[in-house]
This record gives sequence, C-alpha cells and structure tokens, in this order.
Amino acid sequence: MSMIVPREIQQAGPTQLKIVWSDAHESVYFVPDLRRACRCAGCIDEWTGKPTLDPSSVSNDVKPTRVNPVGRYAIQFDWSDGHTTGIYTYEMLRDLCPCPDCKFARARR
Ligand SMILES: [Zn+2]
Ligand SMILES: [Zn+2]
Repeated sequence: MSMIVPREIQQAGPTQLKIVWSDAHESVYFVPDLRRACRCAGCIDEWTGKPTLDPSSVSNDVKPTRVNPVGRYAIQFDWSDGHTTGIYTYEMLRDLCPCPDCKFARARR
C-alpha cells in the first residue's frame, strides 16, 4: 500500500484547517486542538512521554501562520503564538482526524 499523503491543506474557517488526503479522505481539524496535540520536546516530556503543555495555555485564537513541508513525511507549522518546533507526521495528522469514521475506527483499535 502506498503512503497516504496530504494533497491539499487549506484554511477552512476561522478556526479550522482542512487536509484532503491522497485517498480522498478529508480531515477538518479544530486548529487549537492541533496546536495542543504538538509532540515536540517543548510540549512533551521526552522521558515520560507525558504532555508538559497545559492545554488551557493555548488560546482558541491560535492560527498557523506558515505551513512548511518536512521532507516527504511531515508538516511543520509556525503558530501565531510563536511556537514553531512541532513536527506533525502525516501518520500523526491522520491519527488526529476528528471525523466520525476515524473516531469510530480508533475506538475499535
Ligand atoms: Zn510543541
Ligand atoms: Zn477521518
């Protein structure tokens, strides 16, 4: 099976970001939740894997100011709150898809 990659990334509303995947699946993310899901060394304890980011410290107004591709496997966002170190692999982004189908699939895993 070939790797599923984003075909399109677009702002889909004031707080929404849409990714259209190569398998035609569409993910619409609540942007602040994407920011809160950051797994960089500044947001996750590297030893324990526990989040060190307080979700309530992330404003619901946060936006990506730039979306930068990282190789062929990930995306790095520059966030409007100044955070730029988070790398979101395609796999992770797909895993964060909040649509009912994906939620259902994850619940059964
Ligand atoms: Zn981070
Ligand atoms: Zn989905």
